[in-house]
Amino acid sequence: MVFLNNYSILRKNMVERLVRVGIIKSKEVERAFLKVPREEFVWYNMKHLAYEDTPLPLGNTGQTISAPHMVAIMLEELELVKGLRVLEIGAGSGYSAALMAEIVQPNDDKNKGHVISIERVKDLINFAKENLKRTGYSDRVSIVFGDGTLGYPKRREEMLYDRIVITAASPHIPRYLKAQLKENGIILAPIGNTFMQTLVKAIKRKGDLEFREVCGCMFVPLIGEDGFRP
Ligand code: SAH
Repeated sequence: MVFLNNYSILRKNMVERLVRVGIIKSKEVERAFLKVPREEFVWYNMKHLAYEDTPLPLGNTGQTISAPHMVAIMLEELELVKGLRVLEIGAGSGYSAALMAEIVQPNDDKNKGHVISIERVKDLINFAKENLKRTGYSDRVSIVFGDGTLGYPKRREEMLYDRIVITAASPHIPRYLKAQLKENGIILAPIGNTFMQTLVKAIKRKGDLEFREVCGCMFVPLIGEDGFRP
């Protein structure tokens, strides 16, 4: 049984371990992980497992909150700094969105950083919104219901993103997302089949994506018009 005031100790231990093994590399990612309470983003009956380095089911939605080490790898590869506009596909619990917001728009900062996170499962929209509100991130993260393979908004040149992260397994980089990424922007996505994927990092240079493979990974599928079919 974990008592409430023990969470911060467990969180600190988890972060120390991720730093020790070299997964958390930057001070910013370390600070965000120390700040955002994962126990507020896991499902109600999973709180005692909040600081196990493992994905956890989000109720009976069939979706999961990713393992902390995988979120840390993604956050490092995204090279986030204050003031960036980030689009996430797959809000799930809202946890990774809160971590990103903590870096692009720290509370005491006047920058205009913002995270928009799209989710296709209705039950998770409310779950993520409530989690973000309770933890103080609702003004820095916008949760949007819809098919993220189409991006957001669908076609408006002036609304390009500095960073796009897909937190679900995708057969390829959806074309709208490539179009909505700024020049020199980074897009990160698990590319592969619905069982196993490679985390791919792409930088947009002169309109084209330059790809690099980061590591193997396993995510729930990206389901949508330019993803896997339902
Ligand atoms: N980032 C989340 C984990 C997400 S799991 C967290 O920190 O908790 C992947 C999520 O992607 C699931 O919630 C799933 O419903 C969502 N998803 C899958 N296909 C999608 C699509 N086309 N558009 C938006 N969300 C999608």
